[in-house]
Amino acid sequence: MTPGIRQEARELLRRSGLRLTGPREAILSVLFEVAGPITHEQITAKLAAGAPNKVTIYRVLESFVEAGIVHRAFLAERAWHFELADNCTEDQCHPHFTCRSCEATHCFTDAALPMTKSPRGFTVLHQRVQLEGLCPACNEKKAM
Ligand SMILES: [Zn+2]
Ligand SMILES: [Zn+2]
Ligand SMILES: [Zn+2]
Repeated sequence: MTPGIRQEARELLRRSGLRLTGPREAILSVLFEVAGPITHEQITAKLAAGAPNKVTIYRVLESFVEAGIVHRAFLAERAWHFELADNCTEDQCHPHFTCRSCEATHCFTDAALPMTKSPRGFTVLHQRVQLEGLCPACNEKKAM
């Protein structure tokens, strides 16, 4: 873990109005480091020996979600994934791209999508888009 990542995590905690605690700083640093969706178990593994207990990690993630700095990522897999709310707005999350060949998921944090036009009587409060296709590496393999 680089000091820069710890610094970024601390800054974000300060901006979000959350109190700085050891577990919060450690878990948010992991989310910065990974820069993509990660499960509770993967966070625990990343923190290794210094990992707080399961309940603490869960509570910390919940506090991040409540503060709006972390989102539950919408993925094909069943387990909850958490990630930084990178370029997400109140009405939509950044899209996720899953490669059909290697099954890796990528965050399209620079992609801005128009909101879906909903049929009469429906109110869309939040849009989360899942994209599928081939990643650059798999496209290359296909071309060979
Ligand atoms: Zn989001
Ligand atoms: Zn791929
Ligand atoms: Zn993402």
